[in-house]
Amino acid sequence: MKIRFCFLFLLGAIRFLIAQSIDFTHLHVSLELDTNKSAVYGKVQLAFKADTTTDSIYLNGVNMEFEKVTVNNAEVKYASDNKGIWLWPEELLDSNSISIKYTAHPRRGMFFIGWNDETGLSRRQVWTQGQGIDNRHWVPHFDEQTDKLITEIEVLFDSKYEVISNGSLVSKEEEGDQIRWHYKMAKPHSSYLMMLAIGKYALRKTVSKSGVSLWQYYYPDREEDYKWYYYKNEEIFNFLEKEIGVPYPWENYKQVPVQDFQHGAMENTTATIFGDFFLVDEVAFNDRNYTYVNAHELAHQWFGNLVTATGSDEHWLHEGFATYYQWLSEKHLYGQDFFDWERYKAAQMVFEASKIDTVPLGSGKAGSARFYQKGAWVLYMLSESLGKEKFDKVIKYYLEQNAFGLVTTDSLNSAIQQVAGTDYSYFFQKWVYSSGEPAAKVTSKVKEDGVMVFNHTSDSYLNMFFDMKLAIEGQEPSKNELWLITDSASTEFTSMPGQNHRCKYWIVNPNMHVLADITENKPIEYLQIQYEESLALLDRYYAVRNAEQHSLEEKETFLIEVTKNESEFFSVRAEALKQLVEANYPKSDELLLLALQSKDVQLQKEAIKLVKNPEGKLMKAVAELRKGDSYELRESAINTSIAGADPKENAWLNDEFWMENPGVPDNKIAVVVLLYRTAIFQDKEALQDLIDYTSSGYDFLTRINAMQALGALQYFDDEVAANYFDALFSLNRTLSRNARQNLNANYSTESGKEVIDKYVESQMNVWDDFQKRLVNRTFGLNLE
Ligand SMILES: [Zn+2]
Repeated sequence: MKIRFCFLFLLGAIRFLIAQSIDFTHLHVSLELDTNKSAVYGKVQLAFKADTTTDSIYLNGVNMEFEKVTVNNAEVKYASDNKGIWLWPEELLDSNSISIKYTAHPRRGMFFIGWNDETGLSRRQVWTQGQGIDNRHWVPHFDEQTDKLITEIEVLFDSKYEVISNGSLVSKEEEGDQIRWHYKMAKPHSSYLMMLAIGKYALRKTVSKSGVSLWQYYYPDREEDYKWYYYKNEEIFNFLEKEIGVPYPWENYKQVPVQDFQHGAMENTTATIFGDFFLVDEVAFNDRNYTYVNAHELAHQWFGNLVTATGSDEHWLHEGFATYYQWLSEKHLYGQDFFDWERYKAAQMVFEASKIDTVPLGSGKAGSARFYQKGAWVLYMLSESLGKEKFDKVIKYYLEQNAFGLVTTDSLNSAIQQVAGTDYSYFFQKWVYSSGEPAAKVTSKVKEDGVMVFNHTSDSYLNMFFDMKLAIEGQEPSKNELWLITDSASTEFTSMPGQNHRCKYWIVNPNMHVLADITENKPIEYLQIQYEESLALLDRYYAVRNAEQHSLEEKETFLIEVTKNESEFFSVRAEALKQLVEANYPKSDELLLLALQSKDVQLQKEAIKLVKNPEGKLMKAVAELRKGDSYELRESAINTSIAGADPKENAWLNDEFWMENPGVPDNKIAVVVLLYRTAIFQDKEALQDLIDYTSSGYDFLTRINAMQALGALQYFDDEVAANYFDALFSLNRTLSRNARQNLNANYSTESGKEVIDKYVESQMNVWDDFQKRLVNRTFGLNLE
């Protein structure tokens, strides 16, 4: 143990020295791939500058075999382990080159999809995912995001497939039935942003207003839905380039969907990869469309790729900015209410994260709700505080000063100092380096003499001023400040309305200006006036949300008015409806019917969740929504309208419509219908279709849906076991985890254990070490 410890310590010391004295400037990798064996045969050439006292070089390269290792064209002494390679050159010059031939069998970083699928249904692809530090699994190099270099990727591959990588396509030459593709970046970037994607794609090229070439890849068989997944693609690009105020920094911009991607998308420089579950059609567009991801990854081309954080503690500078500019794009496309609702949902995620731990945003351990949602919120507040004009100048300065370089939170603060002449250290101290968010419960009322009394409790750490909007009859609403402190306290606020001027309403933290969790308790008549007079969505939403604390008798008239307001944003109407239903308002069914029959699909989706055991007219409305304008809505409608186990009542399950419209992207509708057909009609064909959906012929989401259905049916046999083991060995961790849980559940039953033991017995000589280890871990076995 001691020896190992010293070795690790030494390794750390060597890497520290390298970070100090070597600067890699260029990487050129040539690849050939064996798709059946998931193997990479490569040759990498690296150019670097070093000071001449450097005597060793370390490169990351996981589980690789190396040969022909040269520095400045001379063979060198080298040693390697399963993490990388050390080189000891005789002497170094100011500028140097390394050349290495290698073989890799990546289990991370590069993914081979569908090449061994025996059903012949799966797409066949190869794609990469570099972030955080996984490109080292397919190309040996110094894998540090602080080291920026020009990259070039050459691939020789079957001519029936498209090959996509970073930068410009330098050349594309036939070699027999293969094509050699050569891509090259013009400007330096971090190596985690290198990418490769191979598959059968069609390509549509367009041009931005500024003349940037935009390449949209898609599956030829999904062409008819192109306008839904690449919805407003050019408009998003044009909007963001103008909004950010700095020209798009790279030579072109490509977007490529891939199967079984385990994140949403990845902003590789000039070439974003995204999960093909975003390839929506017109109906799925109302569930989860690609526009927000399109905007988010595009924003990263500036924030993350052009200016790159120095390390994980500054990660919010990537995700916060990308999310904030994504919000602005959504505001541009879908309007102010949509934008405010995004802010509200983001705030709730941040408050949830703060219930779990107290890690501040400026930490590598902050987690995604903080990196993305809180980061975007911090930028929103910064923009509100500086004013848009100054904020835009700050961002332009921040990007231009640090272009193709590295940034920290201090870089942003110093940009503010340079441009606005103000020191924002206190702001970053509070929102980036401190944990938590202000939270308070405020109970307020107006006394006869016009003096307002606020009683507030706060379980949070922050003492701060909040904006308070005060509306007096006959006057424009005024902006005031209210001091809320940590402990339970009472504050009096003199509104001085004068005798003939009644106070109409007041709002603490109007329009949710500050990221603070504030619940206001005030008389219902003031909430109602707040609702009626407010233009800001969140002031109307909070008026309804805070009615929660009132009795049905008090709030019923107000909430009915909101529920019926057809011009209102869906979330406000849904909140009012929910409170009425939950408080057992006697005419709830009428209001539910109204919502289900509205033209607002988002309201329909919320309303149907509130329907229990529908009958008569309500049942009819639910049944109609089985073919509604969203797959989530259709699924809820199917589940809500199943009428017991009577086959006659459920005959609609046998309509051909369901298999013709199985649900995009994950065949969820087909799976749900097949589940009911199996359970209600003992339909053998339906069961077989479900089993087929768990096979390697399908994407990971479809397979997971089908596994859950078979789990609900408690069905398990030899064929299912084989499909689950295949899923267990998938490098898609979500699929693998689901397979493990399902296999474990079956292993705990007598008959399930028998099937699994038999399968393990038959395969143990076929499996490789990785597979055996996984099987051992899953079942507590001891295969060798
Ligand atoms: Zn991102």
